[in-house]
Amino acid sequence: MNKLSEYLRNSSRAVFFGGAGVSTESGIPDFRSEDGLYRQKYDVSPEEMLSADYFYSHTAQFYDFYRDKMLALWAKPNAAHKKLAALEETGKLSAVVTQNIDGLHQAAGSKKVFELHGSVHRNHCLQCGKGYSAQFILSSKGVPHCTCGGVIKPDVVLYGEPLDEETVEGAVKAISRADLLIVAGTSLTVWPAAGFVEYFRGDNLVLINRTPTPLDSRCSLVLRGKVGEIFSEVEV
Ligand code: NAD
Repeated sequence: MNKLSEYLRNSSRAVFFGGAGVSTESGIPDFRSEDGLYRQKYDVSPEEMLSADYFYSHTAQFYDFYRDKMLALWAKPNAAHKKLAALEETGKLSAVVTQNIDGLHQAAGSKKVFELHGSVHRNHCLQCGKGYSAQFILSSKGVPHCTCGGVIKPDVVLYGEPLDEETVEGAVKAISRADLLIVAGTSLTVWPAAGFVEYFRGDNLVLINRTPTPLDSRCSLVLRGKVGEIFSEVEV
């Protein structure tokens, strides 16, 4: 913890790269933990339900799962989200790159956030492009439709869809210019997102995760624990 605090004190362009584990302390389950979505029993796997193929072929079933498990509009930012926003404010952190779609970094006050997998807070009509709020999707029944009659789709990157180019460019630029990269709450198994850490050129690579990841052996510091608890003890 002291080492992480020291790294942050000496940094002016730190980048945080996070995954679903960053929001578990806000009550949103991740995919691969013991209590994650992949351990829960569904007729169809969550990976398939969150694929573009499934969205277009089983839209109603997609929305049943999505409303139930992915639209956690009740969730509030935890200590990690809040500390990261404060670090940006004081000029230590230049960006957050996240695989999460829950919008909790922005809710905590972070401004520079690259959402590699999109956000539940943006939704648009596939026919006319009109935008809709996450609350609209949550309150609607069955397949949400636009006033023009078109089907509304969340701006979330589903399995089988490409990442947004501008977001990728911004994230790569931030990571490649970073003097410190903190990777946290991710199993680093979802591609291409997991490959983004390869753009880091700085000296101090920090990993915070409850369980081992493929990156551990390459890090200058590995903290095995809860990301929110750890960040609440960081003093910069
Ligand atoms: P993952 O489920 O594959 O891995 C999460 C990792 O975080 C695990 O290694 C787990 O041990 C660790 N972890 C869980 N809680 C933690 C905590 N409090 N502190 C430290 N470590 C913790 O998640 P992933 O690698 O992000 O990949 C899953 C994909 O699903 C991503 O694309 C992600 O965006 C998406 N997803 C997003 C949300 C969300 O937006 N909150 C939730 C579920 C899944």
